[in-house]
Order: sequence, then C-alpha cells, then structure tokens
Amino acid sequence: MLLELKQIGKTFGGIKALSDVNFSLDRGQILGLIGPNGAGKTTIFNMITGIFPPTIGSIVFDGTNLLQLPPHKITELGIARTFQNIRLFGHMSALENIKVGMHTVTKSGYWASLLHLPGQKKEEAHVQERSMKLLEFVGLKDVADIRSDTLAYGQQRRLEIARALATNPKLLLLDEPAAGMIESETHELMNLIRKIRDNGTTVLLVEHDMPLVMTLCDRVVCINFGVKIAEGSPEEIQNHPDVIEAYLGKE
Ligand code: ATP
Repeated sequence: MLLELKQIGKTFGGIKALSDVNFSLDRGQILGLIGPNGAGKTTIFNMITGIFPPTIGSIVFDGTNLLQLPPHKITELGIARTFQNIRLFGHMSALENIKVGMHTVTKSGYWASLLHLPGQKKEEAHVQERSMKLLEFVGLKDVADIRSDTLAYGQQRRLEIARALATNPKLLLLDEPAAGMIESETHELMNLIRKIRDNGTTVLLVEHDMPLVMTLCDRVVCINFGVKIAEGSPEEIQNHPDVIEAYLGKE
C-alpha cells in the first residue's frame, strides 16, 4: 500500500468539510476521487500535500506519517500535485518551468543553483537533459523555449503535469486536469496519464469528466458533503444508487 487515509476529519471554523474519510491507494493504481462541488476533494489534496493538517485522523505515505510535515518535505518524500487552476510561472519558458520543479529536489536546490556552487555545471547539464526528456514525454519538446503563458490551454495543463513529474514523484495528485479541455485535448491527457502510470507513478485523480474517470481508473471513491458514500470499481460506482442519487444523476 502506498497511501492510506485513516478516519480523516477536517473542520474550518464551524464548517465540517470532511468526516471519517478512509481510503487507500496501492502502488501502480489510478484511483479516482469524485463527488459534487464542495464535497471535500481539494481539501483531501491539501491535507495530503501538507498545506494544512487534518483536524483528526492520520495520513501514511510509504510508511511515513505525513502529519506535521511541511509541503516541501512531503514533496521530497515523493508526492507531487497539480492544481484546479493552472499555476505556471507564466513569464518563464516551458523549459524553465520544468527546471524550477527539478531544482526543488536536486542536491543543491533551486536557490543554491543561482549561486554557482562547485559541481554546479555538471548538475545544470543533468537538469537540462532531464527537463528536455520530460518535455518530450508530455509532447512539448517543440515549445521548450516558448513563454508558458502563451501556450495553448491543453499544453499548459500538460506542462503543469510535467513540472510535477520533475520532482520524480511516487504519487501524483491531479486536481481536475481535464477541466476546460476540448475533446482532443482530453484524449491526449488520458494517454498521458496512462503513460505516467505505466512508468511507475501511482495516480490520485480528482475529476468531473465521468467518461475519463470511468475509462482510466482502477478504483473510484465517491464523497458527498465530506463523507465517503461509495468505493469500488468504475462499474460498481456507476451503478451505485447513492452515487447516482448524489452525483451522477439518472439518464
Ligand atoms: P470542487 O469540486 O468545487 O472543487 P471540492 O470537492 O474540491 O469542490 P473543497 O474545495 O474541498 O471541495 O471544499 C469542501 C468544503 O470545505 C467547502 O464547504 C469549502 O467551502 C470548505 N473549505 C475548503 N477549503 C477551505 C478553507 N481553506 N477555509 C474554509 N473553508 C474551506
């Protein structure tokens, strides 16, 4: 088991955002996390990545309890994420965005890299090579030197994923990666997520695009009003009366 959430609860002031949420993820799986707006999906991502801790419960990743760890330590342990709204460094090129992601985990670190320390040249060459490989992996090699805020929407989304992959994660959290995409972009995204999993990275996916979720995911967890209402295979979830009632609706 790679990740386990046990009896997670979260309150914001008087608002109970999550209560008694339990689920786990095996290595090599793609797990879908679905539910209506405000159900608590992004809150789960924020707790896994150390933005804020749960009010109650525990999160164990690869044998380490994540509670009390700051986001950069959690990144070093092997968890990376993307956000619901694109958060690239818009004034930087596609390649530079990847390099920033990579410098968070290289030995000398991003800020040290600006100081030209001994051994820096060798590391820079390695970072350059790996960054170009990652751009190729997500199909953006040809736009390496283009300012990221001028890229097409689908390209920006894929660049965000590549920047997250630059940290070499064991677990990748994707927050609504298909939001706003046209059909061809969604199709490319699905192929990319499959490739990421086939390369050994486990994926936790929050998404409202149900055909994508049901095609890609090995298992699906559905939450509603901060409570897990169902967990199972895509078929089980699609036919689950509580999920249909709360989220999927009837044809
Ligand atoms: P969506 O699909 O719309 O992104 P979601 O399932 O990701 O929704 P969350 O963003 O996790 O839902 O929100 C769950 C609940 O927690 C909501 O009632 C939201 O208003 C509340 N909430 C989330 N983050 C905070 C915060 N930092 N402070 C206060 N309330 C918050």
